[in-house]
This record gives sequence, structure tokens and C-alpha cells, in this order.
Amino acid sequence: MSSIILHRARTVFPVAAEPIADGAVAVRDGRIIAVGTHDDVTAELGDEVAARHEWEGALAPGLVNAHTHLQYTDMAEVGRGSYPSFETWALAFEKGYRTEHDWAASAADGVRQSIESGTTAVAEIVTDPAAGSAVHDAGLHGVVFWEVFGWKRSAWAQDGPERVLAELAALPSPPATGLSPHAIYSLDTDVFRSLQHLAEQHGVRLHIHAAESASEDEFARFGTGPLADRWRGLGHSDMQLLSGNGSGRGVVHYLDTVGVLTPHSHLAHGIYVDADDRALLRERGVSVALCPRSNAVIGLDAPPIADYLREGNPIGVGTDSLSSSPSLNVLDDVAELHRLARAQGYTGDDLHARLLHAATAGGARALGLDIGSTPSGTLATGHRADLAVFAVSASAPRDALAELVENAPSALTTIVGGRPLWTAAPLRTASVDGALA
Ligand SMILES: [Zn+2]
Repeated sequence: MSSIILHRARTVFPVAAEPIADGAVAVRDGRIIAVGTHDDVTAELGDEVAARHEWEGALAPGLVNAHTHLQYTDMAEVGRGSYPSFETWALAFEKGYRTEHDWAASAADGVRQSIESGTTAVAEIVTDPAAGSAVHDAGLHGVVFWEVFGWKRSAWAQDGPERVLAELAALPSPPATGLSPHAIYSLDTDVFRSLQHLAEQHGVRLHIHAAESASEDEFARFGTGPLADRWRGLGHSDMQLLSGNGSGRGVVHYLDTVGVLTPHSHLAHGIYVDADDRALLRERGVSVALCPRSNAVIGLDAPPIADYLREGNPIGVGTDSLSSSPSLNVLDDVAELHRLARAQGYTGDDLHARLLHAATAGGARALGLDIGSTPSGTLATGHRADLAVFAVSASAPRDALAELVENAPSALTTIVGGRPLWTAAPLRTASVDGALA
């Protein structure tokens, strides 16, 4: 029988249950086998425990970065700028993208930064095959999405599906792989429909940038505005949305007409949405990954976090990439969402708990990691042992939760499937008789 490792912490946040003071999580074969107070877990498992790790801080499910492009980690210079509009940022991005890159090294660096901030799963979007193996190589959990960009229906009809399926098949697994139809303006309407069929046939998830800019909304509705002008200028007037003067619908409803709003897809950004859009997303079971710091760098409005919370939409948290954000630490975006929710008038005293939920269980739901034989995103018996410990100094659980959500404390260790991928400080490990080694 394989050995049991017990992690004890001042506070344990199971997320699906109340916080536990002086709590413990026991792990065997990559799964959680017990969660409770240290005394209860010790009494239950007794001398079956082979090693005890004691942490001064808060133990929580590992963070789920529900939207990122770790491939662009070496494009931080673009992200350090500030931009008046989506179009000006896009020009800076394209310029930076065209310079020389070692995409494999850049993605690997992004994976390292993610792990060191307590992230155990990512929704990683890849545009160059060289960046496709970093998540797999590091043993990180999540979904790696192959980005599909710039296809019009005429070219797609020739060999689009074959090429995209070959690119998808080239991504190493685990983790799971999926397809990321980039956005409503960079793919023709028929291509979106075809990608939905391919995803269904091959049992993979979809992840789409949506409602990120006001000009995208105008593009979807009328085929006009700065983004539409830019695409026309690049020679794409024959795109269905442009030649047909738009769809008459905003981005979310347009995506619904092409069939991609399903429980097997999730969106990134979701800024320019109204109550009707949010209701449709709930009806379709579609989560939105909110990336508030990236939105700020690009000069966009803040996501309507207070409305999403009040109305009960499923949400996750993403950092986006360093080409539009200052760090790959999900907790930095959680702290920003906390600030925004208060500024937008959200007064509920459940805000800390709901934002920690969004960054863990909410992200797992967005990526479909909350279902199956070994779910993740919360700490519960039978779940995957994806967990992280954070350097939280408050001892009362309520204060510790506030500190975790508002202060972005650093991670002390990151454990994925029971395997420690990184530890900041040497473990304080006790032998079975309890003496600190
Ligand atoms: Zn993105």
C-alpha cells in the first residue's frame, strides 16, 4: 500500500466547505483521502501517515488560470506599455510577435512563473507548435488549446479542418487539449460552425476571446467600427460579417447562433455584455474567465464583476499573457477583482469567499476539470491533490481569507496530482512520531 502524506496548515480553505482552523489534508496516490482538522485527520489515519508537512500559512486548492498565453511570456515589454484602445495594443503586439522568439523557452518560463505563484492548472492558448509542450513537460494540469486564427470560409473549405486537426494532434497530452477559435473578427462565420462540429466529434473543449472590446461588438452587430475598418484594410472585406453588414446581434448572441455556447466551451474577458447576454451565458452553462489587469493595460473598460456575482454567472479568473499584464499570478487579478467589485457597488460579505471560489473551483468548472473520476478545484475526499500553500500571516480563518484575496500573498508550495512541483522554503517535515526533522 502506498504511503500517505499529510499537509497541516494554520488554515485550510476547502472552498466547497467552511474554512478549517489548524486543518490538514491527507494525500495518497495523487488523490485527497481526508480533509479536516489536524486532530480529526490524525485520529482517522493514525500511524498510516508516512510523512507530515507543516506549513505556516493557508492551504487552498491550487489556482486555476482560466485564460493565459504562456507562450508570450517573453513579450513583457509590450505588456509594460499602456494603450488607448484595443487596436493600438494589437499593433504593438503584432510588432512584438514578429521579432525573433524562442517560443519553447518563453512558454517554459511562463509555466515556471505560474507554478511558483501557486497555479496548478491553466487554460493555455498556443499559437506556435514550439510552445505546445511546456505545460505537459512541467506536469501542470489544465487544457492546452490550439489557437485557430485568420481563416476565411473559402480557404477553410479546402483543407482547414485537416490542418487544424493535425495541429491539435501534435500537442502532447496530458494535459487535455482543445481548440481556441480566436475571436469573432478573425474567423469567418462558417469556420466557427465547423470548429464547433470538430470539437464535438473529437470530444475537445473550445475557448474563445469574446466581448473584449466595444469595437468587437460593433463588428458583430453591424460590420462597422475601427476593428472592422482594420480588417477591411487588411483585405478581408469578403468575411461574412463584413460583407453582410454584421449579424444584427452582439458578440454573445452571435456566438450562440454559430452554436459554440455549450457547457464544453468557455469565454475569455466578457467585458461588453449586458444582462441579457449574461442570462444567455448562464442558460448555456458557459463560464467567463475575467482578466481585469489585462483589460486595464489595453485601455478597455473593467469587466462587470459585480453584475456577474449578483446574477450568479459561473466565472473564473485569468491573467492573460505578459504581453498585456504585469504578472502571471492569478491572485493579482483576484485582488483587482475585489477592488473593482467594491467600486461597482457589490456590498455582500461573501465577496472574499466568492472570489477565492472563482480562482479555484470556478476555473476548474470553466475548463471542465470539476467532473470525471478525479475532479479538481476544491479540496474534498476523492479529488485530485492539486493544492497550494500561501504565506498568509493572519490566523483567524476570516482574516486569513481576506488576506489571501486582497493581498496576493506569495506561494510556499505548489502540488499537482500529489506531486510537489515547487517549494519556496525547505519543508518542515515531521516523521511519524511527530518530531520535526
Ligand atoms: Zn487572450
